[in-house]
Amino acid sequence: MFDLNKLIRPNIRDLKPYSSARSEYSGSASVFLDANENSFGSPLTKWYNRYPDPLQWDLKKKIAAIKNVPAEGMLLGNGSDECIDLLLRAFCEPAVDEIVICPPTYGMYEVYARINNVRVTEVPLLPDFQLNLEGIEDALTPATRIIWICSPNNPTGNSIDREAIEAILNNFDGLVVVDEAYINYSRQRSFLSELKDYPNLVVLQTFSKAWGLAALRLGITYASTDIIDVLNKIKPPYNINEATQELALKALDKLDEVNLMIRETVQERDVLVRGLSEVPGVERVFPTDANFVLVRIREATRVYEYLRDRGIIVRNRSNVLLCDDCLRITVGTPQQDAQLLTALKEFNHV
Ligand SMILES: *Cc1c(COP(=O)(O)O)cnc(C)c1O
Repeated sequence: MFDLNKLIRPNIRDLKPYSSARSEYSGSASVFLDANENSFGSPLTKWYNRYPDPLQWDLKKKIAAIKNVPAEGMLLGNGSDECIDLLLRAFCEPAVDEIVICPPTYGMYEVYARINNVRVTEVPLLPDFQLNLEGIEDALTPATRIIWICSPNNPTGNSIDREAIEAILNNFDGLVVVDEAYINYSRQRSFLSELKDYPNLVVLQTFSKAWGLAALRLGITYASTDIIDVLNKIKPPYNINEATQELALKALDKLDEVNLMIRETVQERDVLVRGLSEVPGVERVFPTDANFVLVRIREATRVYEYLRDRGIIVRNRSNVLLCDDCLRITVGTPQQDAQLLTALKEFNHV
């Protein structure tokens, strides 16, 4: 049985959170002398002399309406990276608790775990880049707190089978985090709609990819209000700055434009995949549900350096588990991809 109270670190459960001036009074008074802000204004025209809403309600309500989830079931982070860190700090006791990750996958789960001195158990994906369910079951101990699943997965690009994720959700009493950074490009449905069925499910999304706002640093944790309440207790009070909140609100008015970019990206992804499969030396173009493609190519590191010297930067993943001789290539504009493919065709393999 899932019991959130047993999952929370005792010091976090007993913590009395910092109460900011802006959360102690949030009504509509006209004279605010409670937060030691600059009462004389700001060098910028906006009301940037005031602290922002610590819980970002305007922004959350707008996201909630689009995503069809309750605003109380969301925590916004300074990038999903902050969301990852908060989850580890809330639920994993340093030097005691453990997490499971399934490499090759996003590097930050492990980095933040190690920063927090949380033990990491690796259960590699199978050669088809799907979950090794038996391996995960064998890896679980009473100290396992979180299983991290990235779908579509970075750097492999594929979506993880839905039934496999559901099997874990049904059989694991810790948290199952599904990182959906690339969900907008995927043929698979988001797990957001399963949140009401699984108290142990946490879904991560971000404004950094399909929304085209990596510079704003805005990530979203979706989970039960009980889980979100715990995370709210430990987040820095003003973790999302006012400029980011305003700009993200504006972007949310441009959903049509974003959807158009997603469609263009997915179309161009097909062009890139087809182009890559015709490049001499390419041994495998892996199926992708993301805005990048993993390619196995002869002499990957030499190809990487050759492209770099021509001013084209891709990600060399050839030293990553299961990714020997692989490059990860982001879908570019048609022009950028044509440039890449031309360069690749001019490379002389030994
Ligand atoms: C890019 C990416 C993110 C986004 O991180 P932000 O901190 O929100 O920019 C999260 N997860 C995965 C798997 C990614 O590839």
